[in-house]
Amino acid sequence: MSSLEHKRHTLAHLLAAAILEHYPHAKLTLGPAIATGFYYDVDFSGGPALGDDGLKDVQKAMKKLVNKWTDWEHREVTVDEARAAFAGNQYKLELIEEIAGRGEAITLYTCGGFTDLCRGGHCDHPNKELDMDAFKLDKVAGAYWRGDEKNPMLSRIYGIAFETREELDAHLTRIEEAKKRDHRKLGKEHDLFTFSDLVGQGLPLWTPKGTLVRHELDTYIWKLREKHGYQRVTIPHITKKDLYVTSGHWDKFADELFRITTREGKEYALKPMNCPHHTQIFDRQPHSYRDMPQRYAETTMVYRDEQSGELGGLTRVLSITQDDSHVFCRKSQIKEEFFRIWDMIDTFYGTFGFNLRVRLSFHEPTEMEKYLGDTAIWETAENALREIATERKADHFEAPGEAAMYGPKLDFMAKDSLGREHQVATIQLDMNMPERFDLTCINEEGKKERIVMIHCAIMGSIERFTAVLIEHLGGNFPLWLSPEQIRIITVSDSHHEFAEKVYTELKGVGIRAAFDDANESMGKKIRNAKQAHLPYFVVIGDKEVAGKYVTLESRDGTTQEITLDKLGNHLLTEISIRK
Ligand SMILES: [Zn+2]
Ligand SMILES: [Zn+2]
Repeated sequence: MSSLEHKRHTLAHLLAAAILEHYPHAKLTLGPAIATGFYYDVDFSGGPALGDDGLKDVQKAMKKLVNKWTDWEHREVTVDEARAAFAGNQYKLELIEEIAGRGEAITLYTCGGFTDLCRGGHCDHPNKELDMDAFKLDKVAGAYWRGDEKNPMLSRIYGIAFETREELDAHLTRIEEAKKRDHRKLGKEHDLFTFSDLVGQGLPLWTPKGTLVRHELDTYIWKLREKHGYQRVTIPHITKKDLYVTSGHWDKFADELFRITTREGKEYALKPMNCPHHTQIFDRQPHSYRDMPQRYAETTMVYRDEQSGELGGLTRVLSITQDDSHVFCRKSQIKEEFFRIWDMIDTFYGTFGFNLRVRLSFHEPTEMEKYLGDTAIWETAENALREIATERKADHFEAPGEAAMYGPKLDFMAKDSLGREHQVATIQLDMNMPERFDLTCINEEGKKERIVMIHCAIMGSIERFTAVLIEHLGGNFPLWLSPEQIRIITVSDSHHEFAEKVYTELKGVGIRAAFDDANESMGKKIRNAKQAHLPYFVVIGDKEVAGKYVTLESRDGTTQEITLDKLGNHLLTEISIRK
């Protein structure tokens, strides 16, 4: 345990002591340190309960109590002594029986006159070591005893704690910022997607603006792919059961598969992934080694029967759009194909200023039943990935148990502007599916040679990626990605004619311009434009009309005068470099 963990755990003890002072009927249960602080689960059922409004008083009491918390005493006790110490508290009694059942020592820790059942791990002199301004009681939430809904509901009191006041403040600011940037909130404000009770939870509906953003992202991906010889393919969204029996998905993906029975009683399924379909396009004809690799790509939805998750968000959905691709290649071509994909991923994420690191997601050797294929195939594939990551000199780490069912993966983790890490792109090496579908090419000796498949989605799921991107950018889409790129505002009606001209000119070169001719004051229109996080707006008055120019005002407040004949090209250049 780090010293910060010791401090957080000590604060949980202090919290418990302060609660007992104010709420003598409370039954204490468990109080561990967690990633950003600590919590304590308490049963208040015998009297008044602590709510959010009582947190300040308890926090004050903790700050007072700490002065007496100079040293710890601890002693090992017998089961009977422990039972006596916590008589009437069924939660602690349950814990005591468990500890005894495991044959472990039962220890009691006392500080400042307060005793708790504990294994240890505190800071030695709380009164000297704890910075009592570096923690804050945060909130009260409900939690079942031991996380089981059959058990009584307890109150979980959360505290946030850091080494210093500055770190605490920085963390609180980050939380506030994350709330402001929540993609569910911004998605609504920017009118990007919506949900309908009639359609169902987890099934986002993309508005015209949201669809534009998706389309621009996908167009960018295609531009990157074209350089590397990818070809578009198109498949139906359903298939006969037979395809997934052969691929192995019918068994291993069983719970997540949406099944369909036709009126003739035939079994079909909605596709949960595209690879099995794509193998059948590859396998339509024999391939010479000269035609390899074959690189197929398709942006399309897949459907997974996930358990219902958070409401109204894009992070957990049943309809997932993948910018999916499958490279069918020879074993000797694996490295080059990985490097090609990796280049695209670096370019794409670099455009938005994400920092990437790579997780080598490998199989868990003790759970082979979760995977297709034997250990030898897996080890060959994993060694290949290890070599690729090392040669690429990438920031990487290994994670056993994170592989896909048919092969190991390179998972790219992107750090966003708030310092949070998200799993985004993946590249997967698959030596199993080519076995199951008997995929080959004819080699130099005229013999059939087993090939491999590389699966890769650069954005991964467009839904998830869009959510990450909205929060990363705080809703400030760059010019090329903005549904509305520039808004034209006039000072008065007499400026309409020139404004129309500016509007037509911009529309003519393909810029997503809007003309705000609503019957409102200029000041209101400017405020609206600013609130909409638009990359640019222009206000047209007498000076502009006379001089045939506009004053381009950007989101960050900078302005630039530019003549009408140059405006279109100026914006197009900025769009083309995706700044
Ligand atoms: Zn403790
Ligand atoms: Zn695939």
